[in-house]
Amino acid sequence: MSKTVVKFGGSNLKCKEDIGRVIQVVKNYQQPVVIVVSAFFGVTNYLIESLEKARHDEQVATKTKEFLFNLKRETLELHIEDSGLVTSILSEIGELLDELGKLLQGIALTGDASKALEDHVLAYGERISAVFLTGILNNHGIESKVAFPESIGLITDGEFGNASVDFVKSTNIVRESLSGDFVYVIPGFYGLSADGKTTLLGRGGSDYSAAAIARCIGASSLDIWKDVDGFLSGDPKIVDKPIQIQKLTYDEAAELAYFGAKILHPRTVEPLSDPHIPIRIFNIYGVLNVQEPLSVVSAEKIVSKGIIKSVTYSDDFGILKIKGSGVGGKPGILAKVTTALLKANINISSVLTAQTSINILIFKKDLSTAYAVVSVIDPPIAGRLQIVEDITVIAAVGNGIAENFGVAARIFTALAKNEINVMMSCSGASLIVSYFLVGINDRTRAVKAIHHEFFETIPAHTEL
Ligand code: ASP
Ligand code: MG
Repeated sequence: MSKTVVKFGGSNLKCKEDIGRVIQVVKNYQQPVVIVVSAFFGVTNYLIESLEKARHDEQVATKTKEFLFNLKRETLELHIEDSGLVTSILSEIGELLDELGKLLQGIALTGDASKALEDHVLAYGERISAVFLTGILNNHGIESKVAFPESIGLITDGEFGNASVDFVKSTNIVRESLSGDFVYVIPGFYGLSADGKTTLLGRGGSDYSAAAIARCIGASSLDIWKDVDGFLSGDPKIVDKPIQIQKLTYDEAAELAYFGAKILHPRTVEPLSDPHIPIRIFNIYGVLNVQEPLSVVSAEKIVSKGIIKSVTYSDDFGILKIKGSGVGGKPGILAKVTTALLKANINISSVLTAQTSINILIFKKDLSTAYAVVSVIDPPIAGRLQIVEDITVIAAVGNGIAENFGVAARIFTALAKNEINVMMSCSGASLIVSYFLVGINDRTRAVKAIHHEFFETIPAHTEL
């Protein structure tokens, strides 16, 4: 029988009470599952800071070790009565921390760290969580083993910081390694290059690790435990009474994640859509029944009555704009610009062009580098280069957008009624998304207006 892959995030391991819920969930599966864990809440950011400081501060190695050692010691002592077991788990964590300390010391001595070393250091958060959780589960009668990516053969394409799993190399060995009849606990966020180096799978990448492992073992589902109510029709911090979305397709989930929904890492869907492995989302603070997911992402396509299933937004994007007469009509300009961005390893999220302006949507964090590399293209591009930062991208997502009339009209009418100016818009790039750009100060009102139009004015969204 195929196993379930269960992902717990840093937000599931925040406090002592959370651990109790995690134990209950694992018991509720009533059969051995494969668990993937993230680092404890805040630990990856802490390691990033330690790594930076270590370049010029020798004390950082010791401080980091102490901080991480003490971080969950109290929780361990509270959950495990057997003091011998507490000591043995702490000694395993201590061994990991000794390695980490040596690496940070090395960085302090040389004042430098290679990309390989950076990735190796940043993965310790997940390694520690896995050892910690395994100890706790064993103590509660759930037979569990840590399975480090290096020991199960999770092989990547070798790109540091943002690797992808190589399924040709990984599938058989991962499946074979996880075939025992007990719970495996795998640190998420990294795999190994073909030559054995730690390669991170991108920030927030343990969702993607879990999806990759689910694919390798042909899991019955990937179950992601969150601290919120699954996919919703809008951000509960902004909209009144968001509606829970029970069923989404892989594409809907991927587009929502791409345009800012925080519930899933945008790459989680990638490994699972072909083999049709469903993603089930649960709330650790809700009902802990493993048969009652809040949202299920699968191949089952449902067109809801109002077409739109959710409105999402992201403040992370900005625009690199090339203005000039006829830039849209001259061959080769985009090729030069995109080649320069590629060389700088900058991802392009969207391109909107007109006769006098080319607009390239990229992450805000990449804007200044993008500006620098495009402004030195040789021979120079005739046109004015400009960066636009104070924007938000808002996306309305739902199956059926491209096949039904009136959806865009409703979006723009709702915005117009609220006197919100749309700076740019795009429909049709994907059959299920209509997205547009507004000034960042209009973001909250715009999201509210769209949500009101699609979810608060028509009677019932029973199909949602
Ligand atoms: N701990 C990693 C991060 O913060 C991976 C994850 O949480 O998914 O990016
Ligand atoms: Mg995470």
